Amino acid sequence: AYPNYGQIDGHIVMIGFGSIGKGTLPLIQRHFSYDAAKFSVIDPNPDSGPFLAAQGITHHQIALTPENYREVLGGLFPDGKGFCVNLSVDTSSLDLMKFCREIGVLYIDTVVEPWAGFYFDTTDNAERTNYALRQTVRDEKAANPGGTTAVSCCGANPGMVSWFVKEGLMTLVKDLGRTDPMPQDRAGWGALMQDLGVKGVHIAERDTQARAKPRPRDVFVNTWSVEGFIAEGFQPAELGWGTHEKWMPETAHRYDTGCQSAIWFERPGAITRVHTWCPTPGPQFGFLVTHNESVSIADYFTVGDPANPAFRPTCHYAYHPCDDAVLSLHEMFGAGVQQKTHEILDVDEIVSGIDELGVLLYGHEKNALWFGSRLSNDETKSLAPYQNATGLQVTSAVLAGMVWALENPQAGIVETDEMDHVRCLEVQRPYLGPVEAHYTDWTPLQDRWEHFPEDIDESDPWQFRNVLAT
Ligand code: NAD
Repeated sequence: AYPNYGQIDGHIVMIGFGSIGKGTLPLIQRHFSYDAAKFSVIDPNPDSGPFLAAQGITHHQIALTPENYREVLGGLFPDGKGFCVNLSVDTSSLDLMKFCREIGVLYIDTVVEPWAGFYFDTTDNAERTNYALRQTVRDEKAANPGGTTAVSCCGANPGMVSWFVKEGLMTLVKDLGRTDPMPQDRAGWGALMQDLGVKGVHIAERDTQARAKPRPRDVFVNTWSVEGFIAEGFQPAELGWGTHEKWMPETAHRYDTGCQSAIWFERPGAITRVHTWCPTPGPQFGFLVTHNESVSIADYFTVGDPANPAFRPTCHYAYHPCDDAVLSLHEMFGAGVQQKTHEILDVDEIVSGIDELGVLLYGHEKNALWFGSRLSNDETKSLAPYQNATGLQVTSAVLAGMVWALENPQAGIVETDEMDHVRCLEVQRPYLGPVEAHYTDWTPLQDRWEHFPEDIDESDPWQFRNVLAT
């Protein structure tokens, strides 16, 4: 029997029934009690209609827009309680969470998503950053503290990886023979990371999932939302900017408002490569795709004045998507146009591979520690239906976030850095396959091509200057 995490009173409305929505559904069905007649899905795509009908779930085939969301959502929560699970693209997370809090409905999402059009129609690159998107949610939290819980950005990353950072730090404490107790607040976590000598964090991911059929030309293939990946890949490269950094890319921009934890530069993230490390490949290239967690983790672990901190880690995504997605990106950026056909690798067509997603904590006494999930597609099949390994890492984080919200219904707006990581991982861990800690003596100065001298800093291995591939 699966653990039951409690009763959801009122209606449950899932917004978006794509790869993540479809994978989250069985986990909600498995782990919560609720009135099945009060579960419905909003998604403009007719394709999921028959599937939902077979499950006895009402499908509202409509796209939420800035004009209709209050009326549509308001109508679906007639008793002023329930849970809104936002797993769609093209809907404003900020507007939806504000409305849910207004009517007393719990809310969760996996990304700070804007309304349709934002990613490609906004001309000012500074406004297209995740820093700007996230800051709108942080400003709303500051303006309206407390109240009904709304969990922001609770997927695998952003999401679970913030819990991994804390588990990784405590692993380091133990393996260094230290006795530090687990910190109980943000200041304590920042102080611990600083004291351990951690300089930064890569969200280091290698997705090796593959199907037998070679990728056809003019098709974008990925293991999760193609639309979501293209949108974020075309945002500017962006990263949390640590206090140990001595050099900055020429086109880098800082901020003088908000939390000031990050910088961005004038280049799309999905064609900006970084040197990184994962257990399966060892050293590899990853793409510096912008993500909420790069900004939030750097912010959360900042010690001192945000404008002039005593300590802050560098933090960024270093993503090697599945090989078909690498080829898709190569084709898309080379051609200057997006492929019109999109395919998400299905759990049953994938013939091999794992999604290896963890945090590489670097710069400390033991050099670098990768801590993360190495979930295979094969194992995923035995754990939960309708999703590949990538999906399950996301949907199980949504489950954990929903459990936490039910247990903490008046916590206001929170990010995963601000939640109880022990409780959340307790809920999520059965779905993550092997969760492992791996130490490595690799640094970005190793495994380079000696024949061409590079403009790097050999005196200080973990400088971002060495991580960024030229
Ligand atoms: P998907 O493209 O498979 O599905 C998105 C769904 O949203 C589609 O079914 C689409 O019809 C629906 N939709 C589009 N516009 C809508 C609107 N206006 N109103 C309601 N529904 C609408 O995407 P996915 O892979 O399921 O990902 C969903 C979201 O989760 C994306 O925003 C993605 O960035 C995010 N995500 C987060 C993580 C994480 O780890 N944090 C991981 C994967 C995906």
